[in-house]
Amino acid sequence: MDNKGLERVQCLIIGSGPAGYTAAIYASRANMKPLLYQGIQPGGQLTITTEVENYPGYPDGVQGPDMMTDFEKQAVRMGADVRFGLATKVDFSVQPFSVVIDEEKEILADSVIIATGASAKWLGLESEQRLNGHGVSACAVCDGFFFRGKDVAIVGAGDTAAEEALYLSKLCSTVHMIVRREQMRASKVMQDRVLKTPNIIMHWNSDTDEVIGDKKVEAVRIKNNKTLETTEIPVSGFFVAIGHQPNSDIFKGWLEMDEAGYIKTIPGTTKTNIEGVFASGDVQDKIYRQAVTAAGSGCMAALDAERYLGAKGIH
Ligand code: NDP
Repeated sequence: MDNKGLERVQCLIIGSGPAGYTAAIYASRANMKPLLYQGIQPGGQLTITTEVENYPGYPDGVQGPDMMTDFEKQAVRMGADVRFGLATKVDFSVQPFSVVIDEEKEILADSVIIATGASAKWLGLESEQRLNGHGVSACAVCDGFFFRGKDVAIVGAGDTAAEEALYLSKLCSTVHMIVRREQMRASKVMQDRVLKTPNIIMHWNSDTDEVIGDKKVEAVRIKNNKTLETTEIPVSGFFVAIGHQPNSDIFKGWLEMDEAGYIKTIPGTTKTNIEGVFASGDVQDKIYRQAVTAAGSGCMAALDAERYLGAKGIH
């Protein structure tokens, strides 16, 4: 507590994906007594995936939600104070920093680690939501493996969609790429690679009408937005790659961000433009976006925060 009765901590972690929990594990072991607020979706994006097979240490794979429960247990066992609550406002103008939780409780923190992640954008179809995790996915690298030798569809035409379509083309028989205009947004080199890949079939000027299937994806119905003709394509997987939205709104005006809202960090570190505020995981990474890279940057953030507090004589 400070002298006004406000709760004061050395290290406040905002977010509970792999980055947040890893930061909490490291910060706890360094005796920084971290307080972690989980946000609206405890466990983050991995709680909406099914099996995770590419996280080292789980030789038989693991369900995304179970893995995040493991992360949380480990953080708590190390001594982290993990609480449910959403950071709704920050004031980084003076130190200690002020962070308001659920619009009512104010926490003062000597260092802040932001690990609020990113959210995949969705088309907004009822069928897409209903079949999420049952053939609908927003991550080809996570889930493509389950569709080996099968036909899949992917919607989107940016660099992510291009990369994911190429990734899927190596695993799947046919990849149907659904593009809403008559050209792609992806960089020229990525477009060329996609167009030269024989098992990627382009569907230009096409909108997704519906993902078809009762318990799992069986087909996708697309509509040509010029001719209004609809076509049903049998597929087992439907991938959405229309971009991500970093969860950085409450930090706007305080932290430097790129045009899409990703927090800028000094390369090779998790330092933001405000000394004592660190960013890790997907909220500052639009390229790799993997659980293991997020966890790695959570570790970096805790180490950066520890050094910062040490240099200030707080820790
Ligand atoms: P982008 O915003 O670049 O692309 C989104 C794509 O989805 C666009 O083609 C857009 O179509 C399409 N789209 C959006 N909404 C809908 C919708 N409702 N229905 C159908 N299609 C839709 O996102 P990315 O995730 O691809 O990339 C984000 C940033 O990250 C970019 O700057 C990209 O270059 C970068 N990146 C770089 C990589 C690398 O360097 N290796 C890898 C991945 C990403 P339209 O074109 O019509 O707007």
